[in-house]
Amino acid sequence: ELDVPESHPRYQSLLTRHRIAEGVDRGITSRQGLIAEGRGEAFDYLLGERTIPSADDAARAAAALLRLADRPVISVNGNVAALVPGETVDLAAAVDADVEVNLFDRTDERMRAIVAHFRDHGADEAGVAVRGVDADARIPGLDHERAKVDADGIGSADVVVVPLEDGDRAAALAAMGTSEVVIDLNPLSRSAQVATVPIVDNVIRAVPTVADHARDLSGASRAELKRLVREFDAEAALAAAEDAIRSGRLE
Ligand code: ATP
Ligand code: MG
Repeated sequence: ELDVPESHPRYQSLLTRHRIAEGVDRGITSRQGLIAEGRGEAFDYLLGERTIPSADDAARAAAALLRLADRPVISVNGNVAALVPGETVDLAAAVDADVEVNLFDRTDERMRAIVAHFRDHGADEAGVAVRGVDADARIPGLDHERAKVDADGIGSADVVVVPLEDGDRAAALAAMGTSEVVIDLNPLSRSAQVATVPIVDNVIRAVPTVADHARDLSGASRAELKRLVREFDAEAALAAAEDAIRSGRLE
């Protein structure tokens, strides 16, 4: 899909840009999504474009939290749809979660394009529901458009995975008592700060990593899963990520 050899030192980042640009052309990703991608790339560059050990620990705690959940939902926007559609379906199948499309600037056309995109990436075959079109419930404390969720989806979820979420919405979800797994490359982002489990990593790496941990934990007892969640320290994980960025040292 991308006319650059894999040996190119910036291959991953060029591939990411290519997918986002293609997402914009296809009506999946918004123009604001391009800007969010740029901000993310800068942080990824400073992290060394790798999954730091504290992010891998966070991914394992996230997998445990998702395995313990009664009603887990993976919230997706236009960037996630462009970058990791198949990987998101795979994670949803691994932890028995629904996918819910949730857009900052919601239009019916973009909602439909994204739902169709997840179907093209095997959602139906994997038995994964793709929600978001009903929008029959509201998150309290947010303006009308951004508050829209499905009553059977995020509206009644106990654990929500929110990659690249804006800070307000992440805080409003937390205030509802919903546990949140936030995937965000910026450890200073408000979204990362309010998360139950913040994963400071690129969604391109983090989504498959959480799915791998979830499969690895398929035989774990509830007590063991609870221990993993309990022993995870969100503040320490954010501090470790910030330290990796500031020091430029490999952990
Ligand atoms: P704040 O959370 O500080 O209030 P914001 O969330 O409103 O800011 P945006 O620029 O809209 O700010 O959010 C984009 C966020 O998504 C940034 O924190 C950026 O690091 C993150 N991001 C962008 N691309 C990726 C990616 N591929 N993987 C993970 N995170 C990403
Ligand atoms: Mg944010």
